[in-house]
Amino acid sequence: MEKRTVYADNAATTAMSERALEAMKPCFMQIYGNPSSLHSVGQEAKELLGACREKIAACLGCEPSEIYFTSGGSEADNQCIRSAALFGARKGKRHIVSTAFEHHAVLHTLDKLKKEGFEVTLLDVHKNGVITAEEVKAAIRPDTALVTVMYANNEIGTIQPIREIGKVCREAGVIFHTDAVQAVGHIPVNVREDCVDMLSLSAHKFHGPKGVGALYCKKGLPLSTLIEGGAQEKGKRAGTENIAGIAGMAAALEEACENLGANMARLTAMRDRLIAGLLKIPYSGLNGDPVRRLPGNVNMSFEGAEGESLILSADAEGICLSSGSACTTASLKPSHVLMSLGLPHEIAHCSLRITLADTNTEEDVDYMLEKLPGVVNRVRSLSSLWDDYVSGKIPHVL
Ligand SMILES: *Cc1c(COP(=O)(O)O)cnc(C)c1O
Repeated sequence: MEKRTVYADNAATTAMSERALEAMKPCFMQIYGNPSSLHSVGQEAKELLGACREKIAACLGCEPSEIYFTSGGSEADNQCIRSAALFGARKGKRHIVSTAFEHHAVLHTLDKLKKEGFEVTLLDVHKNGVITAEEVKAAIRPDTALVTVMYANNEIGTIQPIREIGKVCREAGVIFHTDAVQAVGHIPVNVREDCVDMLSLSAHKFHGPKGVGALYCKKGLPLSTLIEGGAQEKGKRAGTENIAGIAGMAAALEEACENLGANMARLTAMRDRLIAGLLKIPYSGLNGDPVRRLPGNVNMSFEGAEGESLILSADAEGICLSSGSACTTASLKPSHVLMSLGLPHEIAHCSLRITLADTNTEEDVDYMLEKLPGVVNRVRSLSSLWDDYVSGKIPHVL
């Protein structure tokens, strides 16, 4: 096959869609007003903002007044978790339940809260990358202020039983937040049916622009302010709104929701073809549940082939992949997500994440299936870790 570029790192970020770009264009030189201005130019921007809020609310199954714009998923996670913690603390509740494989935007916020006097229970994840509602129920205490469990994991793509967890939290009267950054626009998400009280999303994970996101906060729940200043977003998030970004996000989400079923079916088939093909490589294994998994996510370990080397060697073939999350690739620590599954260090370290989006084609899958076995072989042939497997110093587990 002729060399091509295959971008298969869509969990890190996606390319913008044409429709998102078209929605943004007028916001720079035509609809450039400040939505807080009372004159007509400002009011035009305000109207656009309202229309975007409606589109996003429609996709999530909530009221437009329950949507707050943020600078992205990280800010939304920070604001939701801090708000629920503060609300709980006012009633003497200082306990939070979460999981060991959350995104760092959640885990690092929880670390900060621990230093501020909160107690955090991080649930262990099963080997298949899923937790159960019963485990959440068992962890809830009378002083639990918040349960925060991600909708779908960004590394291994596993989908959590969010609706069941939501019901457990509702029965216990505990606020339930979900980091749905990898789920929204990829699988069906409905905050009412899922019994979710707070949710985070980010535009650049579903073909919208970077640097913009939103949170959902159920009516009646107090949201506290991270960014002080003007009265934008009902005083909960100050700063002149990123109108172009918000317009791009709303268009991208609307498009993703319209095409959800078809995209899911197509990507699931491509994903499973990739997994089946790559499992033919000796001493390889799939990480995370094969079924309860995002349509575009493949995460595999190849014994004796270090993730960093796999990425560089794949890149030389024009294939853009990741090992673990983009945030951990700078450090040489194996991913906390893979470690949370109980994988041995050397298996977690030898992992590769392939994340497909609707921009990928069957030819991309063909190309990866043709090139990746050679990539793994090449990395192994240069690896002292692989030598240890060959000599029997380390026993094979895959
Ligand atoms: C990407 C991501 C985030 C962070 O979103 P940003 O918009 O990049 O801040 C948070 N949580 C998960 C699960 C993600 O995948």
